[in-house]
Amino acid sequence: MKKRSWVALSSASVLVASILLTVQVSAESSSQIQEKFKDAQDEKNKLQSQIDAKDTQLKEFEQKMEQIKEKIDEIQNEINPIEDKLSRETTALNKMESQYADLVSNMYEEGVFSPLAMLLQSKGFDDFVVNLDTVQLIADRKFDLVNKIKETRNQIKKQRDDLIARQDLQQQEVDKAKQLYLELVEAKKKDNSALIEANKVIEQYSEEMIDVNKALIASGKLNFSYIGPLKKPINASMTSPFGLRKHPIYGRYIMHQGIDYPSPTGTPIYAAADGVVVSSRASGGYGWLLTIYHGHKGGVPIYTRYAHSYPNQIKVRVGEQVTKGQQVTSVGANGQVTGAHLHFEVYAGENHAVNPTGYLQ
Ligand SMILES: [Zn+2]
Repeated sequence: MKKRSWVALSSASVLVASILLTVQVSAESSSQIQEKFKDAQDEKNKLQSQIDAKDTQLKEFEQKMEQIKEKIDEIQNEINPIEDKLSRETTALNKMESQYADLVSNMYEEGVFSPLAMLLQSKGFDDFVVNLDTVQLIADRKFDLVNKIKETRNQIKKQRDDLIARQDLQQQEVDKAKQLYLELVEAKKKDNSALIEANKVIEQYSEEMIDVNKALIASGKLNFSYIGPLKKPINASMTSPFGLRKHPIYGRYIMHQGIDYPSPTGTPIYAAADGVVVSSRASGGYGWLLTIYHGHKGGVPIYTRYAHSYPNQIKVRVGEQVTKGQQVTSVGANGQVTGAHLHFEVYAGENHAVNPTGYLQ
């Protein structure tokens, strides 16, 4: 809101309207800003988990479709030899039929065999009956062969048709999955646009929120519920635990108020939980100390503190809201150190360092 520029406006009435609008905006109370910001963040989190869930579903659909396509291919592999067989049988049948037709027509042409002529030539009824048998015998023998092949061919055809029907069913499954997949893609698009809108609101109110939070920090009224456990703030292994230890520089036994994660300079450091940056300043042996408030637990404020960064590595400002896992700074070797590392502290109360391992997940 603060970034809005009215420079280009010249007409007096527009100017008045814009002043009124500005007054209205600044009239928004801290609690309204907090509420809008929180709503937008909740919305953002909700949408993000919806999108993640849809991504998982989409992957499942992709796998399912892949499996069905494999099944279709398997059936096709069964169909292929049957198609070959069918085409061979059809060729044989066609050959038989044409041979039979040739045979009959040759007989007609050569006068060797004419069923009708043969019957008409019958001398008397007995002869007719005999001739009829002969005609049928000649015909049947050929027909038997033809029928046998026809039958075989029909069986193969049925086999093939059954397989194609099975394949069609699988294809229907693919089509169904594809339809759902596309619907899911559409729904995800909608979630993404809503997420962009939520981010716009967060962006719009982030400056105001920093001011609101700063005021709350100053008045000691920053207070929300702590949601643990803490997430490890760096991808590195801890070497130096919390407690009394022989100090690497001073050589005497002193309390180590946190835990150390040696890591090359520049290694990202992440917020251990959702919270608000309450302090970011140069601090003696710490070099630079970044402090994040994560809410109250049993009436006690919980803070995490990140030491030894260089000031130019700090990515957040006092008053800024951070989310768990968000990069807030990087590893440096600023302050009393023997090498680059993150010194990480957890405070339960304003001046009470506790063992971080009890808070980390
Ligand atoms: Zn340390």
